Amino acid sequence: MPIGARMLSSPVVKTALITGITGQDGSYLAEILLGKGYAVHGVVRRVAIEDPEHRLWRIRHILPRIRLHAASLESFPSVFQVIQRVQPDELYHLAAQSFVGYSFEDEFSTLATNTNGTHFVLAAVKEASPGTRLYFAASSEMFGDAPAPQNEQTRFQPRSAYGISKLTGYHLARNYREAYGLWAASGILYNHESPRRGFEFVTRKVTSMAARIKLGIESEIRLGNLDARRDWGHAREYAMAMWSMLNHETPDDYVVATGETHSVRELLELAFDAAGLDPYRHLVVDADLVRPADIHTLQGDSSKARRVLGWSPTIAFDALIREMVASDLEYYEQAGARAGAHD
Ligand code: GDP
Repeated sequence: MPIGARMLSSPVVKTALITGITGQDGSYLAEILLGKGYAVHGVVRRVAIEDPEHRLWRIRHILPRIRLHAASLESFPSVFQVIQRVQPDELYHLAAQSFVGYSFEDEFSTLATNTNGTHFVLAAVKEASPGTRLYFAASSEMFGDAPAPQNEQTRFQPRSAYGISKLTGYHLARNYREAYGLWAASGILYNHESPRRGFEFVTRKVTSMAARIKLGIESEIRLGNLDARRDWGHAREYAMAMWSMLNHETPDDYVVATGETHSVRELLELAFDAAGLDPYRHLVVDADLVRPADIHTLQGDSSKARRVLGWSPTIAFDALIREMVASDLEYYEQAGARAGAHD
């Protein structure tokens, strides 16, 4: 063997494709996979490539290390072409209209995008890359008002077009697994947050408003249902659970949750306390922000993921919200300094 031949033969690198790579979960997952030595590809809309400043901020720091492909979840041929070209070992299908509140304003696009998008991905994998292991981002919203805590055996009772769209995707993934032998696993993830969470979700709304009020940029925060209880975990740990599912011997569906719930009121009090503020001097309860059908309590029982995958969350709610407030304070302080520099 010539000297150096061993060094020249590169180790086997797994390839992963992520739809929704520009989102909170996609960005954490891409970092985790890069850390494990994967070749990481992402599906993004063409507009994202044309407007990287606004649409790619969560993955800006890893852009030189990943490959992006333009496709639309609304177009089967475009999804098919990317999957055929990349031939991923693992495909993480995270892309969706992911905000429940918006699904009440536009049921039609939520159902069409989420349901067809998942169907297109499944059909394309079956035809063009049948050896791919597929992860589908299902959701605790599929449980709706089912009694808490919910697990994989709980009967689904979705209460929004979003929940219905995710339930359809979940059944489609299961059906492709059973009917065509596709390696498909669904993660039934409960709410998961981080400093990268979108501003429309209640955690980020509260932490960003706490920072903005603290810095004198705003004076009030408007919220809807303060009594809703959610099981909030950290998105980075939930992305890790996705990888564990695809690296288990057999495909299956798992609830991923902390098992602990807190109300929106507790969230508000904790975030404002972290910013050194009294929330009740700034809170306005706005009936327009109450959803036509809300879910009172979502609380997951993730014993199966803990037992089978060895996954368990470590970041407590308190630490999560304090991390988000600290990050938002830093962000708005720097934004203020940047704006000041232009005066
Ligand atoms: P979801 O569980 O996926 O719907 O996550 P959200 O963060 O959007 O909402 C969590 C809960 O907070 C729901 O029960 C909402 O009704 C409640 N909530 C109360 N006020 C607000 C608000 O101003 N914005 C949002 N997004 N949710 C709110």
